[in-house]
Amino acid sequence: MSNTASSIWNNCLAFIEDNIQPQAFKTWFLPIKPVRLADNALSIQVPSKFFYEWLEEHYVKLLKVALRKELGANAKLVYIIKMENKYGNNESFTEKIPSSNRSAMAPQELDVPITSKNPELKNPFVIPGIRNIKIESQLNPNYNFDNFLEGDSNRLARSAGMAVANKPGGTSFNPLMIFGGVGLGKTHLAHAIGVEIKDKYPEKTVLYISAEKFTQQYIESVKKNTRNDFIHFYQLIDVLIIDDVQFLSGKSGTQDVFFHIFNHLHQNGKQVILTSDKAPVDMQDIEQRLLSRFKWGLSAELQSPDYETRVSILKNKLYRDGVEMPDEIIDHVAKNIKTNIRELEGAIISLIAQSSFNKREVTLDLAQQVVEKFVKNTKREVSIDYIQKVVSDYFEMDVATLQSKTRKRHIVQARQLAMFFAKKFTKASLASIGSQIGKRDHATVLHACKTVDNLAETDKQFKKYIDDLTKKFT
Ligand code: ADP
Ligand code: MG
Repeated sequence: MSNTASSIWNNCLAFIEDNIQPQAFKTWFLPIKPVRLADNALSIQVPSKFFYEWLEEHYVKLLKVALRKELGANAKLVYIIKMENKYGNNESFTEKIPSSNRSAMAPQELDVPITSKNPELKNPFVIPGIRNIKIESQLNPNYNFDNFLEGDSNRLARSAGMAVANKPGGTSFNPLMIFGGVGLGKTHLAHAIGVEIKDKYPEKTVLYISAEKFTQQYIESVKKNTRNDFIHFYQLIDVLIIDDVQFLSGKSGTQDVFFHIFNHLHQNGKQVILTSDKAPVDMQDIEQRLLSRFKWGLSAELQSPDYETRVSILKNKLYRDGVEMPDEIIDHVAKNIKTNIRELEGAIISLIAQSSFNKREVTLDLAQQVVEKFVKNTKREVSIDYIQKVVSDYFEMDVATLQSKTRKRHIVQARQLAMFFAKKFTKASLASIGSQIGKRDHATVLHACKTVDNLAETDKQFKKYIDDLTKKFT
């Protein structure tokens, strides 16, 4: 007899029933209806999205084992969610969602030899007082290679990432530096490499951290006089992933400590993965010796995705969310949002939300409105160079004058305004703003911001400058 969806599902149920509490079995498994079996994919219908999320969170492993016993290693599970009343009509509609088959990342135990010089090793991720050398990888399992779609724009970075994941520390891509503009997938790819390594080499200690958090931990360790512990902790990691290293610019203490950690890891064949919003050659205020380390391995750029990749990213997102949308809408979004995948996703999420909240059909018209909003927002990203140019133009001087050392009042004010706007409209640190606007230090920038705030309240003319200029940036 050939297998049917229900015979397969009944066998799965028997296995599951043996492995969990009767109450849980009754609550979560009896309401499920097997719907279809095609190739190796079993579709099951669940009563709500919550149900689906619960199953994925708590029982995905069990489901996987049960299904593989029946259908072999390539078994796939598809959820069908019954929804009420789409767009106000009476037909119920269904969402199809593939099982992610991914569970949360398990914590990693690290054996520190008893003879370690450092029996009191501190884990900077742990609240003081609790001693623990379980290291959470801080990886997000939802950012993996399966859902990092390949295209011309990311092929090099993606394959380098794969190569590193296959042989962490064992390729010449060490460090692997992934760089590219905002929203192009740096963080996603960095996590994907880590997640893949944990799959292939569960015994390796992987750690993902943003450069910002790393900096905070370092500052904390200096305050508490535990700088050495901080360094030793990081030297224990097998695969260290630091996101957004441009954040280290101007922070010489953190750069210094990272330099030591990096050298130790590199010499011991450990893998380092970095991301940055700029190529190493364009990084400012990073010590030369660190920059030269960054260039040792491979720098791979994530570029803006081409049209085909944008379409497949959108389609994949819709598929994972179990929503269908006409091709002309997908096409419209893909044609108009070009430089940022986060915005591409944002636009499609906004469309899904609008259509389901307002029970409105997604029309091309609605798509145009949503896209227009996103495109407008994109224009708002301003750079420090742009700010200096606009402020100089406004006061009819050139940028060199604005940056000069002169103490002439109107020039000082223009410079202070440029610093103020750079603080307001960019994510750059005070130190990096200072160094880009006439090589000043962070205290000067801080002082400028305070002065501008004060003058805004006391000086009408000055307030008008601020208002005029603000309009140019928004
Ligand atoms: P960045 O760190 O470069 O600013 P992110 O990694 O946060 O960008 O990516 C922004 C969004 O775009 C995330 O939701 C990510 O999942 C998605 N994304 C980026 N690249 C891809 C890709 N190649 N395939 C699928 N999704 C992608
Ligand atoms: Mg990022």
